[in-house]
Amino acid sequence: MDYKNITVAGSGVLGSQIAFQTAYKGFEVAVYDINEEAIGKSKERMMKLKENYKNDLKATDAEVDAAYERLTFHTDLAEAVAQADLLIEAIPEVVKIKTEFYQKLGEVAPEKTVFATNSSTLLPSQFAEATGRPEKFLALHFANTIWVNNTAEVMKHPGTDMKFFDEVIDFAKAIGMVALPLYKEQPGYILNSLLVPFLEAAELLLVKEVADVQTVDKTWMIATGAPLGPFAILDVVGIRTAHNIVQAKAAATGKEEYVKLAELLQTEYLDKGKIGRESGEGFYKYPNPAFADPDFLKN
Ligand code: NAD
Repeated sequence: MDYKNITVAGSGVLGSQIAFQTAYKGFEVAVYDINEEAIGKSKERMMKLKENYKNDLKATDAEVDAAYERLTFHTDLAEAVAQADLLIEAIPEVVKIKTEFYQKLGEVAPEKTVFATNSSTLLPSQFAEATGRPEKFLALHFANTIWVNNTAEVMKHPGTDMKFFDEVIDFAKAIGMVALPLYKEQPGYILNSLLVPFLEAAELLLVKEVADVQTVDKTWMIATGAPLGPFAILDVVGIRTAHNIVQAKAAATGKEEYVKLAELLQTEYLDKGKIGRESGEGFYKYPNPAFADPDFLKN
């Protein structure tokens, strides 16, 4: 892997983190977004990231300043990608927006450029043709707060050439990620293939009135030694996201338990401003949630 120049397209929540982390690890990074306003917001995000890196990673001022110096900002796609060995796409999770983006990108990017999507829910095969270079296209999926939660799920679609798959795995390692190869397309990658059904199982125990929130979490924590139970994890994910997932399932299946669960999350949590950790309350109250009390794991 001899990548030197990386382009990150879309500099929102995840794009800014990917760009900053990549620059922090010594790569030259071109950041692309649609207009000056979006670029302005991106620069503000980078300033906050500098503080996060200093607090969480004990990075020095010189280190975070050097990372920032390796970033350039662009609103012209052809210019942003002109030197790119790899382009990482982190634009909105909307099929039409991504398809149009890849069509344009395929026309203006140099032949050498490998394309990777950070999409959480869409599969790379959906866009492979639009890129015009399916063999050089794959998914590279990060988790929010990439500098601490450093997973990189690298996923092929059937047309991805193994050479580029291996290169992107090496690149992910080079920017400090733990690279997790997925050899076949899988909606939800590894993490959400495990997490979504797990969280849903916990929520169904609640809505069926089998057991309460704390009992479910306590069971999981004592029996497996895990630091968080499913409802504590749901507070991290955010109850809005959980509600969206359940509502989609209710609409798709019409099953009463999903309909009831969507209602419960809406009326008992979202309507009351309990949206999870970010609002200070969800299934638990923060900053001192009940599950953090050593007595929580006792009778
Ligand atoms: P976001 O809304 O914070 O950022 C999207 C950015 O893309 C914005 O800066 C926007 O101006 C820009 N944009 C819009 N249209 C564009 C276009 N045509 N070309 C270039 N840029 C464009 O979104 P996000 O949360 O950073 O998510 C981006 C991608 O990352 C999605 O595919 C999402 O599934 C994935 N992802 C998000 C998370 C997360 O926790 N937020 C985690 C993993 C993966």
